[in-house]
Amino acid sequence: MLSNRIQKIQPSMTLAITAKAKALKQAGVDVISFGAGEPDFPTPRYIRDAAIEKVEEGHIGYTAASGILELKTAICKKLQADQGVGYQENQIVISTGAKQALFNTFQAILNPGDEVLIGVPYWVSYPELVKVADGVPVFVETKEENQYKLTVAELEAARTDKTKAIILNSPNNPTGVVYMEKELLAIGTWAVEHDIWIISDEIYEKLVYGDVEHISIASLSKEIHKKTIIINGFSKAYAMTGWRIGYSAAPVEITKGMTSLQSHVSSNPNTISQYAALAALEKESGEVEAMRVVFEKRKELMVKIVSTIPEIQFIDPQGAFYVMVDCSYYLKKFHFDSASELAQAMLEEASIAVIPGDAFGMNTYIRLSYATSEALIEEGLERIRAYLTR
Ligand code: PMP
Ligand code: GLU
Repeated sequence: MLSNRIQKIQPSMTLAITAKAKALKQAGVDVISFGAGEPDFPTPRYIRDAAIEKVEEGHIGYTAASGILELKTAICKKLQADQGVGYQENQIVISTGAKQALFNTFQAILNPGDEVLIGVPYWVSYPELVKVADGVPVFVETKEENQYKLTVAELEAARTDKTKAIILNSPNNPTGVVYMEKELLAIGTWAVEHDIWIISDEIYEKLVYGDVEHISIASLSKEIHKKTIIINGFSKAYAMTGWRIGYSAAPVEITKGMTSLQSHVSSNPNTISQYAALAALEKESGEVEAMRVVFEKRKELMVKIVSTIPEIQFIDPQGAFYVMVDCSYYLKKFHFDSASELAQAMLEEASIAVIPGDAFGMNTYIRLSYATSEALIEEGLERIRAYLTR
């Protein structure tokens, strides 16, 4: 009954578990959720005020399908200032979240059978979005000794004459690792040499900790810039998940194709949200950094407590707001086949929501989000400890 294309995809596990945890909480169950991939802060006041003002002024009609010019201009300025890469307005498409920007990208560059190299672990939606574009996700295993980052040797081993693109996500969801300049330069040079698109998902760009710096691969050379499609959005940095604004920065031809597609699929992204995003960029005065500082404290707290739970390993994060925890020992101990079963049992028996690593291609891990308060981090991790070591 369903098309082959839709039969090939699964619903988003991250969204499903987050929704389930929220519903249980609303029903009065004392659930502590480490599931959410969304900041728990309200959208900063100045952004909400700007949106209200636009509604009052009556800025509520359609806009150009690819978004309002003022926001594109502000995004170009931002890309120059923060990433050090030059873009013109005709290279930007504003979309309904970074998710739609990724959807547009795969639709615009893939023909049936084209392969996209995806490092494992990966964010849950990448393979599904490739498949709906009739592309083939090719999974490339990463190694602990490389901090779970892709290397040129691994990419080269996976390359075929069908390889059309690679996805880079730094800071990474779910590992939190951040690529360094020399790693990006090596991958970028390899991609240019083989005429492969680099899809650089930079949505966690503002959330890096310690002395780690986010670098955009597009900034490393003119040639790399030409082969890169930057994906970014407002959900994480500005605590604007529900506003649904993301964008792509890409060569003009690709941008034209994406605009055409979007004009039929969804028209423009929400008009009020576009003005809110414009204010987010133009009137920001320290709010983003203030949230980053809070995330960094929470990360330290979570890592400190997690490292005291016996028999587990975890990936030390440098960015984003997740910690990947290897539960292999406990899967064996409790005779679970995968983290999915463990996560289900933890939710039912200990009222703790986590995302099983199955969603990210690592089925002995669970992903813990620290986009929640320090008090809940402490209480929730004690519940996990008690549950695992009972
Ligand atoms: N990329 C990554 C790596 C993400 O974690 C998310 C989270 N939702 C997105 C893209 C999409 O974000 P949004 O659609 O909310 O902009
Ligand atoms: N990206 C977030 C996460 O990984 C939000 C959920 C989603 O968009 O899939 O949890």
